[in-house]
Amino acid sequence: MVIPLPHILAIPFPAQGHVIPMMELCQCLVSQGCKVTFVNTDYNHKRIINAMSSPAHIEDQIHMVSIPDGMDPWEDRNDIGKLLETIKRVMRAELEELIKNINDSEDDNITCVLADETLGWALEVAEKMNIKRAVLWTSAAAVLTLSFSIPKLIDDGIINTKGVLLKNQMIQQAPMMPFTKPENLVWASIGDATTQRIVFETMSRNNQTVKLADWILCNSAIDLEPAAFALAPEIQPIGPMLATTRLGISSGSFWAEDLSCLEWLDQQPQNSVIYIAFGSFTVFDKTQFHELALGLEISNKPFLWVVREDIGNGLNHAYPDGFLDRTESRGKVVNWAPQQKVLGHPSIACFLSHCGWNSTLEGVSNGVPFLCWPYFADQFVNESYICDVWNVGERFERDEESGIIKQGEIKKKVEQVLGDDKFKNNALSLKELAMNNAMQGGQSHIVFNNFIDWLKA
Ligand code: UDP
Repeated sequence: MVIPLPHILAIPFPAQGHVIPMMELCQCLVSQGCKVTFVNTDYNHKRIINAMSSPAHIEDQIHMVSIPDGMDPWEDRNDIGKLLETIKRVMRAELEELIKNINDSEDDNITCVLADETLGWALEVAEKMNIKRAVLWTSAAAVLTLSFSIPKLIDDGIINTKGVLLKNQMIQQAPMMPFTKPENLVWASIGDATTQRIVFETMSRNNQTVKLADWILCNSAIDLEPAAFALAPEIQPIGPMLATTRLGISSGSFWAEDLSCLEWLDQQPQNSVIYIAFGSFTVFDKTQFHELALGLEISNKPFLWVVREDIGNGLNHAYPDGFLDRTESRGKVVNWAPQQKVLGHPSIACFLSHCGWNSTLEGVSNGVPFLCWPYFADQFVNESYICDVWNVGERFERDEESGIIKQGEIKKKVEQVLGDDKFKNNALSLKELAMNNAMQGGQSHIVFNNFIDWLKA
């Protein structure tokens, strides 16, 4: 009897920082003999295909399909509250229909739904259709345990049952874990009151739906977060998943990567360049954007700066007068970088980052020290890991009066991180610790193999 290949239907949350790690995991699954159907929203599918130099290459390996997200093309998909509500309302039925069509038309039915943890409704669809289930959590384990601790936060009087903050008390879930100010809790740091309520309700509901999954896979490593994994042993580490484990095909970027920056990096001295990138969401106002540019200028170091075309509403790359001319000999600006390759380049000295979890893991896996500039969601937890737990970077202090990070503060922290070997040495030790988890015999490697066995069973 021929045992059919496992056929996994993977569905990420429709945002860049979720699509990339899901795509990485799926590439690992394909390399282990699984078949994968990857479900993007129509909107993101188009962006990914447009951004790729050879779309056919990826389609040889992974079956890329798409369903509508329920929003019009011009609507703002960075409005997380609206996106969460719309996709739940529309994509649930679309997903069920898609699975029915696949199962009706193909010999190899879907054998497992692998959903982003934030898409609890996808697990409910799979349960209804009697398909086995796993979730991928794409942030730190400490952020998921923080979500699991919502009932305790309510009992302790820190929040009410609607997630509204009641007490200003620093939260630390266990020793050796990051610190979180209540106003920096994931939902409390996102958007307006309506968005905060929707995010809180979604997280509370997902704490229940996640129980429908047999596996909670997390893109992290036990040695990076031992205390968090001890708090919730049901969370299984499989990270850090990186390009090294991929099939060498696209990671699912929404923007085309500007490869010219790699040649530019080749021309810079070893361990000299500041890499500045704020992920896929973060936006700047003009004053802060100028201050960052001037901070880079007075720091007087080579820099590679990712300035997405949508980094500021109407900002239109409004650099300070003469900035680009004055820094031309030692600075390069790109719209979107091949970030994992950039961070692995020997000329990179430090990473000025918004501390998204993927960026954090990518910096850690390459032994790069950080300058932390978090904005919202899980980024403050990640900053605390970097500065308080792992000691591989420094945080910026905001000016009390204006609330912005001033050029003098940027220069000061650049000098601190580049001028003290402690940061680089700690970063190199952390890299070794993290990467050992993903090697043969490492905990993440063992979990991944067990997961494959379960898929094939
Ligand atoms: N990224 C990239 N090129 C860039 C900037 C970011 O490829 O110029 C990738 C980065 O490698 C990471 C992802 O985009 O994998 C961003 O995810 P993260 O969790 O760091 O931040 P988010 O975008 O979710 O805020």
